[in-house]
Amino acid sequence: MFRARTSLKLPVRLRNSPRIRPWFQSLWELLYPVPEFCPLCQTGIVAEGLPGCKVCISRVNPSMHRLRLARYQGFAVGYYDDYLQHLLYQIKYLNQYQLAVALGKLMALAAKEQPELQAVDYFLPVPLHHERLQKRGFNQAEAFVEGMNQVWPHRVYKAIRHKPTAFQSQLTPQERIKNLNRAFTLIHPTKIKGKRLLIVDDIFTTGATFYSLADLVERNQGVPFGLFLTHSHS
Ligand SMILES: [Zn+2]
Repeated sequence: MFRARTSLKLPVRLRNSPRIRPWFQSLWELLYPVPEFCPLCQTGIVAEGLPGCKVCISRVNPSMHRLRLARYQGFAVGYYDDYLQHLLYQIKYLNQYQLAVALGKLMALAAKEQPELQAVDYFLPVPLHHERLQKRGFNQAEAFVEGMNQVWPHRVYKAIRHKPTAFQSQLTPQERIKNLNRAFTLIHPTKIKGKRLLIVDDIFTTGATFYSLADLVERNQGVPFGLFLTHSHS
């Protein structure tokens, strides 16, 4: 009796050939896509066009909160509580780099719709002092920027942070600003003249770090904006 051959498989000899394998694999993955796990919870399946599963995205509930940052304009994607607080803890203390990249994508998806941010020239991740960078393994602000660039490409402008601010939390807001006043240096400061820089950080609390960097940008005739993953309730 006649039996139709329905198998899609290539002969084993061809399948294992190094020249055939890559395209065979990509064809196979096109026909039967491998589900991508959510980098936020590691259990859900990534929803199409989003950087995480639907459950996580609804828990993060990204929305642009407009912040009053003296004479500067700034935005935060959510409050520093519940789920975002938990995710930031994982980034900082459990070294979850891909989680930070995914949240960066979410930040960009929210920010790119903001009319005030349309003409931004550079992303400026808030730098970490090199000692803290060594301890932590990566700078979460740079990881956010990497994710942001995947959905909203911009040039990245880097600054240097000079002294660790380990005891910042014990200072009054005024002392913090004083302490941070000479904390940063801009690399090639003439490049930012007349440019709009989006300063990116994980959390806005007192704003001491942001103001210190924003003032420095302004002193070099750049226009600073702020984008934070979270801010604390005021
Ligand atoms: Zn998830």
